[in-house]
Amino acid sequence: MRPLTARISSAALAHNLAVARKCAGSAKLISVIKANAYGHGLEFAAQALAQTDAYAVLTLDDAARLRTHGITKSILLLEGPFDAEDAANIAGLDLMTVVHTRQQLDWLARNSKPVPVFLKFNSGMNRLGFPLQEFESVLAAARNNPGVGDITFMTHFATADEALGVDWQWQRFKQQVRQAQFPLSAANSAAILRYPETHADWVRPGIMLYGSSPFVELSAAQLDLKPAMTLESAIIAVQDIKPGAGVGYGLNFMADTAMRVGIVACGYADGYPRHAPTGTPVLVNGHKTRTLGRVSMDMLAVDLSGLPWTGIGSPVVLWGAGLPVDEVARAAGTISYELLCALAPRVRVVRQ
Ligand SMILES: *Cc1c(COP(=O)(O)O)cnc(C)c1O
Repeated sequence: MRPLTARISSAALAHNLAVARKCAGSAKLISVIKANAYGHGLEFAAQALAQTDAYAVLTLDDAARLRTHGITKSILLLEGPFDAEDAANIAGLDLMTVVHTRQQLDWLARNSKPVPVFLKFNSGMNRLGFPLQEFESVLAAARNNPGVGDITFMTHFATADEALGVDWQWQRFKQQVRQAQFPLSAANSAAILRYPETHADWVRPGIMLYGSSPFVELSAAQLDLKPAMTLESAIIAVQDIKPGAGVGYGLNFMADTAMRVGIVACGYADGYPRHAPTGTPVLVNGHKTRTLGRVSMDMLAVDLSGLPWTGIGSPVVLWGAGLPVDEVARAAGTISYELLCALAPRVRVVRQ
């Protein structure tokens, strides 16, 4: 059996949710499990996060799967309906929905049953949301809409994980919405951890639930977060190479001394980033070493020089327990979100 396995820990997910709960104080938690729960498995994550107050997904398919799985808690559809048929299904599945356009309000108006709506305002990210200047007319339209039930005001932060922070958006948002006395939702993981003033009524943790830090300068361990996914494999071949020899496609890595090179059963077709350069951290037998040369479709090479006790069969951790996914992501010039979401369907997953 090919040794590549992604281990998903229910205990880690539950622990990270408890951390979010503690940070969030009296705010209710909407656990964000879009993108197959950031690669961890939709239904499994929903179950592991059973202490949440609500879930958020992107697609109606995911919401339907959760309902089929017996999830009766509130589910928020993060981008709302994409057409009138979606709007009908939102009511049919008893969902809460984001609404960020007038067209979505029109679709919902055709429903006979009102659904809870998160009216989304653009406070500066300029991605989704009504312009804040239209606040009063949007609110009036929503209140007169038979398809709209309880209203929450929502916005999303562009720089909660960066030095710029959230105040520039939070103040704008609050200025507009505060007189209306409806519940508010703004905080993602970074704002949950760093900006308690934005917690309001509903927080929306995503990445922190999976045990990754939203901040470059703070590790997941420093935030008391535990990795929910460990991607592990093994050495399947060893090459002893001479000075001047190269490794892998393009001979992209050239040895200047004699080296021992291990070949790991994991490649970019498994979701490991192809652009990870030589030097990306990897654990072999619990020892941190580095990748060598280009990542292939099904394999990658690691430096076993100075690790004479390693060989064929030695366990390898690509990320997770003992090697934070954030470190690997940084070395590869990306973020943990992308690595976790990109886990390929062909990887065997063990959920426990
Ligand atoms: C994905 C998402 C989140 C979660 O963000 P994290 O950075 O993963 O915590 C929160 N809110 C919205 C609207 C999202 O799309």
